[in-house]
Amino acid sequence: MVPTLQNQHPDTAPASRDGAAIHLYDLSLQQLTDLLREWGEPAFRARQLYRHLYVHKLDRAADMTDFSKALRARLEQETTCSALRTVKRQEGDQGMTRKILWSLPDGSPVETVLMIYPDRATVCVSSQSGCPMKCVFCATGKLGFLHDLTAGQMIEQVMWAERELHTLRETQPDAPLPTGITNIVFMGMGEPFNNYDAWWTAVERMHDPDGYNQGARNFTVSTVGLVPGILRLADESLPVNLAISLHAADDELRTNMMPVNKRYPIADLIAATRTYTEKTRRRVSFEYVLLLEQNDAPEQARQLADLLRPDDQPPLLCHVNLIPWNPVPGTPLSRSNRQRVLAFQEVLRERGIACTVRVERGVDIAAACGQLAGG
Ligand code: SAH
Repeated sequence: MVPTLQNQHPDTAPASRDGAAIHLYDLSLQQLTDLLREWGEPAFRARQLYRHLYVHKLDRAADMTDFSKALRARLEQETTCSALRTVKRQEGDQGMTRKILWSLPDGSPVETVLMIYPDRATVCVSSQSGCPMKCVFCATGKLGFLHDLTAGQMIEQVMWAERELHTLRETQPDAPLPTGITNIVFMGMGEPFNNYDAWWTAVERMHDPDGYNQGARNFTVSTVGLVPGILRLADESLPVNLAISLHAADDELRTNMMPVNKRYPIADLIAATRTYTEKTRRRVSFEYVLLLEQNDAPEQARQLADLLRPDDQPPLLCHVNLIPWNPVPGTPLSRSNRQRVLAFQEVLRERGIACTVRVERGVDIAAACGQLAGG
């Protein structure tokens, strides 16, 4: 029998959960095998547990009914699937966008957003609590860096999204809904390449065909433009998607918007991106947040086009995603208006650059890009 999925029950978590419990999503199949061997269990038991976690998406040992009572009790006592504590849940877009605010043991915030469409479901995962990059237009940047998340804490966010979607499907059996999460984007709080090892461990584990089995092309990582991370990803074996936050084609402007540009200026970033596209033959996407009268003039669109399609080199294998800026309280910036967004897009299109405007979700619950700040 395939056990049924359960929603998380943070209130019924084991009393012993004091941070010392082993987070099961942090362990590879080999590590689970070692743990259960120490407990006197055969190796196949670890494979069963792994399937319960990633195929049946169970998060409570009590629901693993093919395990002995003693094993279930020990798992309940000494392990957890809930390293993140639920603080607040919010819904927008008629329940099709859901944001959850979690906290780490010291109270630091982490947020995850789930966006459900009839044919797909995207979960936007945080890789850090807060963010060290200090982009002036981003709400998370204002928090500063608080913590790196572990691979298990990233996976936990995705498993939450799977259970949310499953519950929705049960309550709305006739609604057109996807059967599971189809896209995992690392665009929540934090800079994934600033926590590369944990981030990549999470990707590899979620990709494992014997476990959760998410297709590599269903993952997207977004970076502020950390060149070493881009070069490292170019050599990885899984073809995940890369998005790069560009936001300006001029170094002075970009440095004002994104302090990281001092360390990795535009020329270095574009050179690394070329290395990446040449090695992988995969198209990158450039994100470009549009701020009224800062970086949204037609002349700036032309500058961007020159950067991506220079006369003296082959065009960069890329796509541009324009993101009208989402308001961040206390920030003296304005969002581009529709007319300027479309004019900007037109300039790029005329130059033969594929360019879309990001469709908004979750603005009403402060769950849109750059609005995650633990509120
Ligand atoms: N640190 C990574 C991923 C996090 S943010 C990165 O910088 O790429 C995901 C995207 O949202 C980035 O492109 C980021 O620049 C953008 N963003 C940040 N604040 C925003 C805001 N207020 N409105 C719209 N997009 C924003």
